[in-house]
Amino acid sequence: VFITIEGIDGAGKSTHLAAMAQRLQAAGATVCLTREPGGTPLAEDLRAMVLNRPMDPLTEALLVFAARRDHVLNVIQPALQRGEVVLADRFADASFAYQGGGRGVPLAQLNALEAWACEGLQPDLTLWFDLDPTEAAQRRARAREADRFEAEDLAFFERVRAGYAARAAAQPARFARLDAGQSLDTVAAAVRAVMAERGW
Ligand code: C5P
Repeated sequence: VFITIEGIDGAGKSTHLAAMAQRLQAAGATVCLTREPGGTPLAEDLRAMVLNRPMDPLTEALLVFAARRDHVLNVIQPALQRGEVVLADRFADASFAYQGGGRGVPLAQLNALEAWACEGLQPDLTLWFDLDPTEAAQRRARAREADRFEAEDLAFFERVRAGYAARAAAQPARFARLDAGQSLDTVAAAVRAVMAERGW
């Protein structure tokens, strides 16, 4: 089973990811917890470049998808073949949101890169933590240091959010949208409900 977690920076993905992993493990699953960009030594090096070096949007997309291919081949596919539950903090949807919505890389190019890098692999379930960008910016200011992306303005994150919305509308069967503006407990309960619906 392949489950991904998505949302703009500050939406609270990481908090809920840890709780999800614990519950799945308690239920007897072997969980492969991983993240993007990154998840392998090569992909983590590419992540550092993408986050810290200025570059044009298509270069950024190429590097993120190169990292994704290495991650799919060396971590995700092997874990799925071993029968594990793969829990990934971001996957291809993030590229449609950030490189597509945020940076304006055309959909046709992203579709081509996705076909190359992922060879048809899609998550079984994607939890989309949807949050108003203004609220997300306030949370980031309280909680975290900024990388190149987190310093972007509200308009950028509005476009990223719209990128997620478009992707969710195009592939509704695997997307579960969660209102991440609610309290931590309320969102956690919603996550449990979505998982329970699928028998997890
Ligand atoms: O989710 P995480 O905070 O680890 O993501 C690291 C940064 O990479 C975030 O600021 C996110 O905005 C950015 N990112 C991106 N394109 C992706 C995935 C993540 O710009 N495809």
